[in-house]
Amino acid sequence: MVKAVVGANWGDEGKGKITDMLAREADIVVRFQGGANAGHTIVNNYGKFALHTLPSGVFYNHTTSIIGNGVALDIPTLIDEIKSITDRNVPTPRILVSDRAQIVMPYHVLFDQYEEERLGGKSFGSTKSGIAPFYSDKYAKIGFQVSELFEEELLREKVARVVEQKNVMLEHLYHKPAIDSAQLLETLHAYRDMIAPYVCDVSVYLDEALRAGKNILLEGQLGTLKDPDHGIYPMVTSSSTLAAYGAIGAGIPPYEIQEIYTVCKAYSSAVGAGAFVSEIFGDEAQELRRRGGDGGEYGAKTGRPRRMGWFDCVASRYGCRLQGTTKVCFTVLDVLGYLDEIPVCTGYEIDGEVTTQFPVTAKLEKAKPVLTTLPGWKSDIRGIRNYEDLPENCRRYVEFIEEQIGYPITLVSNGPARDDVIYRKSTLKK
Ligand code: GDP
Repeated sequence: MVKAVVGANWGDEGKGKITDMLAREADIVVRFQGGANAGHTIVNNYGKFALHTLPSGVFYNHTTSIIGNGVALDIPTLIDEIKSITDRNVPTPRILVSDRAQIVMPYHVLFDQYEEERLGGKSFGSTKSGIAPFYSDKYAKIGFQVSELFEEELLREKVARVVEQKNVMLEHLYHKPAIDSAQLLETLHAYRDMIAPYVCDVSVYLDEALRAGKNILLEGQLGTLKDPDHGIYPMVTSSSTLAAYGAIGAGIPPYEIQEIYTVCKAYSSAVGAGAFVSEIFGDEAQELRRRGGDGGEYGAKTGRPRRMGWFDCVASRYGCRLQGTTKVCFTVLDVLGYLDEIPVCTGYEIDGEVTTQFPVTAKLEKAKPVLTTLPGWKSDIRGIRNYEDLPENCRRYVEFIEEQIGYPITLVSNGPARDDVIYRKSTLKK
């Protein structure tokens, strides 16, 4: 049985917490896309952790954590992250890395920085972790697979070939120092020795696990709107953020993914550039940012203040649809308890017409939010465990949004901790 946890929006919806909860029942947790560019924040018995590369299952003794072939694998970051959790008394996790995963090279990180510099004000708001140059090289077929680290002759030949090309760019486009092949080869030897204990033929491992009836959890990064095909291109990430890609990025049959938990936050936040229709500004935004998440809405990786906005039903319905949602997890509801009234974006006005369908980027740039205002509940809902015990206006907010997005909200999260969860029966009419 395979479940996927994915985001409906721009990321930072609280997937880390939901994955951490579901990992309790999982034998295996798999990261299937993305790299160390985003992060999950997890609060558990050991403390508060920001994970960038490790799957959220690493805190459980009974789970195997897998870095799938779809991931942009930053080897030193992975090793540092393992150390950062074991240093804080978390038992050494069982980790497997796909032999088909490709490696973020030191020059990918540099190219990311150089390109942002070159673009200046027109930059994409990259986290400069090398993700876009990494995926460009993967599809240009000049990436390095983990398996290739163990083929010395091939490695030498490929390093020489790739460096030649990279150095032309470094010299003529970026005017930066050239890469030294011998030094790069040495770095890759160090990477080989670091990663060797974890390397595995992951698709065989997962095939056997499926045959043995194991529970597998696929852990997505970012959300639908950052998908390179279905998101706000070009202000997107470089690997697919959709549950469907879980099959490819882990190496399992698509029909094995039976449950798709799509995480939606009770308000919106986004990082990086790009259209954000329900965005709010000034004091109103700052207040929500300060109260948001667990200790404010600031990037887990960069510390950058996130852009803030009201819940966007248009984007979220689209986000849930493209994920193939079977269950919606509605998170961070507790944060809205301070508001007298809560605006919700229920439509986009584009060139004088109102639509509820999420448009392509050029049209999205012109969209103005159509807002519906709901009454607030003006109380702290943390600690409540039964849906019926939530204030009436709070339930109305959940039910209004469920109706608007058209996918069942079966779980409401009302605090950052593992137990801050309310299960509910959906009232959605099919
Ligand atoms: P992810 O990338 O989707 O995992 O999102 P983040 O790691 O950025 O999570 C968002 C933040 O919200 C984290 O600091 C979580 O600890 C916190 N969080 C998750 N669920 C809740 C919730 O229901 N209420 C509150 N107040 N914070 C939450």
